[in-house]
Amino acid sequence: MKSRVIIPLEEFPEEGLVLEGEADGSLFGTEETGAPSVGPLSYSLEAQLYETELVVRGSISAPFLLRCDRCLREFEYTVQIDELTISCDVKGKVEADVTEELREEVLLELPGYPKCEISGLECEINDTFCDFRLDKDPQSGVNSATPSGKSVWDALDDFPQK
Ligand SMILES: [Zn+2]
Repeated sequence: MKSRVIIPLEEFPEEGLVLEGEADGSLFGTEETGAPSVGPLSYSLEAQLYETELVVRGSISAPFLLRCDRCLREFEYTVQIDELTISCDVKGKVEADVTEELREEVLLELPGYPKCEISGLECEINDTFCDFRLDKDPQSGVNSATPSGKSVWDALDDFPQK
């Protein structure tokens, strides 16, 4: 599997270029940071060329193995970005390598203090020590770990983007 995402710029179609595929997860280089990649970077992108500026929009995702900060259990978590937009100056280039841009976007979405809940799992520590809920509204927080993970995604929106 290739490990770069490269967009050819020669004879670039006026209506834009659609790119779909996968790149080897080793490009993330997160093995030593305790969040090893466990699958490829999947991408579905559309590129537009405006004179010397390349604008790429679309969605990307990549799975990682995280360790719960509370119960230390390992679990898989997929970073999913649906409204990605990146742009780069491609003046004088015959191709644009956007691997580093995509990598950074994904790494920014990796939680610094992962908890089981972000993958829709129930944290054992949370169940054992119910005291965790005492200082909070019982309707929020603990109950946010819905199997669908929907409310969990909402919480991720609050993360700083840059
Ligand atoms: Zn946990």
